[in-house]
Amino acid sequence: MFCYQCEQTAGGQGCTKIGVCGKDPDIQSLQDILVFGLKGIAAYAYHARELGKSDSEVNAFMHEALFATLTNVDFDLSRYVELVLKAGQVNLKTMEMLNNAHVEKFGAPTPAIVSAGTKAGPGIVITGHDLIDLLELLKQTEGKGINIYTHGEMLPAHGYPEFRKYKHLVGHYGTAWQNQKKEFDEFSGAILVTTNCIQLPKDSYKDRLFTCGIAGAAGAEHIKGRDFSKVIAKALACPPLKENKAGTLSTGFHYTAVLGLADKVIAAVKAGKIRRFFFIGGCDGAKPGRNYFTRIAELVPKDCVILTAACGKFRFNYQDFGTIDGIPRLIDTGQCNDCYSAIKIATALAGAFNCGVNDLPLSFVVSWYEQKAVAILLTLLHLGVKNIRLGPSLPAFVSPNILKFLVDTYNIKPIGEPEKDMADMLGTGTK
Ligand code: SF4
Repeated sequence: MFCYQCEQTAGGQGCTKIGVCGKDPDIQSLQDILVFGLKGIAAYAYHARELGKSDSEVNAFMHEALFATLTNVDFDLSRYVELVLKAGQVNLKTMEMLNNAHVEKFGAPTPAIVSAGTKAGPGIVITGHDLIDLLELLKQTEGKGINIYTHGEMLPAHGYPEFRKYKHLVGHYGTAWQNQKKEFDEFSGAILVTTNCIQLPKDSYKDRLFTCGIAGAAGAEHIKGRDFSKVIAKALACPPLKENKAGTLSTGFHYTAVLGLADKVIAAVKAGKIRRFFFIGGCDGAKPGRNYFTRIAELVPKDCVILTAACGKFRFNYQDFGTIDGIPRLIDTGQCNDCYSAIKIATALAGAFNCGVNDLPLSFVVSWYEQKAVAILLTLLHLGVKNIRLGPSLPAFVSPNILKFLVDTYNIKPIGEPEKDMADMLGTGTK
């Protein structure tokens, strides 16, 4: 934490003023949380704006909240708590706006089984979150003999009717963004990165990696105006990809598709065939300890269903989880912004069972990495969701007092031992 009052790292060497310099560490902590949340909201608002949608309430909040982080503008802790929770509310509205914009432009997603791996021939892999970039790339590559692959957060594109029209969108390659160096190294075609969550490219593939939109990397060519002719030329000049089948993945469980199964799901819960739901997902990263999320998914009993979103799912979504009475045990609602769908599903279940979300047999196990994950976490807190397990570690910018507030109010818990956590969530653990 940088203390703007004494202009050094708060709590660092030479700082003797915490609590008396005017920038108390708890206000600093809340301001940091707010700024991280605003960055996440900005990402979703940016995508919505690219699709022609914006909202004056969202815009006004961005200005107010960012202004509120100025030095000495306010010393009232409770007002910052309010602002932080309001950020969660505004993020929900922004995710809804982006969801509606996606559905309007690309159709409502429906479940899809996606081939993973590569096919023989020239190829382009596209990663990031910007679905308009993907659409433009598909249009510009049609009939050119180039196969297009999604990577990372582009996987959910396969669920949208608009993208299914393109036969040369042949499948998905690889996993999450933190594995780009290895996976792009092994991908012999051209690479297009559309948003944040880019690894600094290695020299071995820098000349065939392109960025566009908000993304950029020194040494890689940046494409402007969605003219992908250079990416296409590079793909045709690169050695063709080899045939390499890597199984299948599922995605496209938009809330409208899942609510279409609502009667079946409710009947299965009432009959005791579905014991519990687990939301396992969020932002992934390279930090050790993230294997927890793989293990926890593996530990989910066969009579339970996993809801997921964002790139954290690549820790386990290559596994076959099977079905319960025809209901898939792994329900991928999409990108991180599609946590909106997971929230709609949870609130619909609560409505069907005439209870609150916290009373449902539903546990949240959330991996966080960056700003969008903070925005989504704030949305869950705004909705009053309790007992969230968060990992691989708790954010460093949360001060001890603010952490105590989060624990006391929302019972947020750091992840622990997978087996113990699972027993605790199932209510089978020892006290
Ligand atoms: S889910 Fe989060 S970490 Fe993963 S690619 Fe999206 S924004 Fe990045």
